[in-house]
Amino acid sequence: MPRRFVARRSPIHGNGVFATAPIKKGEEIIEYKGTLMTHAEADAMYGDGGETGHTFLFTLNDQYIVDANRKGNTARWINHSCDPNCRALIEESADGDPRKDRVVIEAIRNIRPGEELTYDYGITLDVPHTPRLKKLWKCLCGSPRCTGTLLKPKR
Ligand SMILES: [Zn+2]
Repeated sequence: MPRRFVARRSPIHGNGVFATAPIKKGEEIIEYKGTLMTHAEADAMYGDGGETGHTFLFTLNDQYIVDANRKGNTARWINHSCDPNCRALIEESADGDPRKDRVVIEAIRNIRPGEELTYDYGITLDVPHTPRLKKLWKCLCGSPRCTGTLLKPKR
């Protein structure tokens, strides 16, 4: 089966991933791959993450993070949107081994060729979401529903 997407420059941010063929709602598009690391290892390597503004880290579960800086695939270029056409799903392993959980990107509506693939990163930092950090994590998705930042309100 030919690939149904391609990575190229995006008007949202840096590189993006664009559909090259129709993708149906509910279809799995790609697995978010990378090197598995613990939260402690990620903190040691990248700090608390608040200062980078963009990240190739995906929280898999309470124990592990997928680090797409290392052995990542095209999925790491998929941008955030406040009105996304995909979502990131955690598929828990059948045998309960947290190392075998997977992140898959799935279409949440029908997607036309040429559309940029996006999902809601749903980021909350351990540190307070100050105006400065919100600006650092500024969202440029252009959707009418854009909240202006990738950071989610904390409860
Ligand atoms: Zn936005």
